[in-house]
Amino acid sequence: MRSTISYPGKLSILLLILLAKSFSGLAQSKSPIVLYYQKEIVLQNARIVDVVKGIILEGQSLLIANGIIKSIGKPGELAIPANAKVIDLRGKTVLPGLVMLHEHFNYNNGAGVWQFQPISFPKLYLAAGVTTLRTAGAENPMYDLNLKREIDKGAVAGPRMFVTGPMFNDESGGFLGDFIISNNEEGRKATAFWAEKGCTSFKVYSDISPEALKGVIEEAHARGLMVTGHLGKMSCTEAANLGIDNIEHSFLSCSVDLSLPWNSNWNLQPDQEGVNELIDLLVAKNIVMTITPFSDSDFGNPSLFDYLSLDERKRVERLIKNPPPFLPKEVNDKQLRPLEKRFIQKGGRVALGADAADLGILPGFQNHNVLVTMVKAGWAPMEVIKMATIDGAKVLKLQNETGSIEIGKLADLMIVSGRPDQNIEDIRNIEMVFKKGIGYDSKALREQAKGLVGRH
Ligand SMILES: [Zn+2]
Repeated sequence: MRSTISYPGKLSILLLILLAKSFSGLAQSKSPIVLYYQKEIVLQNARIVDVVKGIILEGQSLLIANGIIKSIGKPGELAIPANAKVIDLRGKTVLPGLVMLHEHFNYNNGAGVWQFQPISFPKLYLAAGVTTLRTAGAENPMYDLNLKREIDKGAVAGPRMFVTGPMFNDESGGFLGDFIISNNEEGRKATAFWAEKGCTSFKVYSDISPEALKGVIEEAHARGLMVTGHLGKMSCTEAANLGIDNIEHSFLSCSVDLSLPWNSNWNLQPDQEGVNELIDLLVAKNIVMTITPFSDSDFGNPSLFDYLSLDERKRVERLIKNPPPFLPKEVNDKQLRPLEKRFIQKGGRVALGADAADLGILPGFQNHNVLVTMVKAGWAPMEVIKMATIDGAKVLKLQNETGSIEIGKLADLMIVSGRPDQNIEDIRNIEMVFKKGIGYDSKALREQAKGLVGRH
């Protein structure tokens, strides 16, 4: 595992600090985004969330060496290297960095065209403690792929990215930026092309044909890569039988199976025929459902207006007066969440995603909203934190590298004031984020994103 980890050198740190300074004119921020980059760092008096065992370790010391968690123990048990930087974390909780699976670096410009946000979005994700993410489709994945390279080099501060290809769709539907594939051969060719460029997963969109999906799956699986879908015309049953690995927006993608309309009044009866069969099939096929919960209060949050460009702020303020049709709260709370509960209770695998790309709903902040919404739906905070960390890491096959606080893993950590394992709202009190052992100041990162969302 060690061999796969590149610890950013001094040059990269310098680059990060220089870049932070060069963008500070835009953001009127003087504070550095990198707080700690020493080779050896000790977090003292830490309250550690162990998501694997589902327990809290109180009063711990944690040694980070070269970006890796080297040891964890009670004070006195741990040998502290002479040159180590020691940070006292009394009153704070240390959680694994978030690993979330339906993320975007694009934002709707109001005309159904999603524009790349290379400056604000990486900072907003990292500031919130999202240290690893998978994108969920983009109009031009080259932007995401090149941003990933800059982040990996240490030239841009942002989460570790796993990039999904373009929105593969049929010509009959979707958005202007969709990548049209109509048959098996086109599916294979497009998948091969984007895999060569560096995409590690693929997403099919609403009107994809079974032949095209089959081509995508065959090519992706031959390369050991994953396929996910935001389904519309096709049933989840058909996609599952074709070999899809993952389904986005959980059961909203299964409206054909459940004979339910999109975005309007669902009336799913708990004992409706086919529900159990569908859940059993998805569980048997080991298909991961990405849950992207949304609650009406996530939209039009005035405390986030400072992050929007002036034009975007005006657009959001207009939209608040005339809100777009959301999936009714009743459907979310009374139908969708209970379906997910049944799926998980039967052994189904889930991951969480924010899907923040429009309407003043912002990366990072929405990742926290997702955790809060899931707790409101009846899950214990610890269960939800697990979904947002180690469960996400398992989907990306990164469970030996990140997603939990264990010796030998990357020091990808969130430092939060309070106890989010007891009160999930405390997750919002994030102060610091470690990614591969480098400590970033959440407030400074956010400061630098102000006024930019919608522009870049
Ligand atoms: Zn999305």
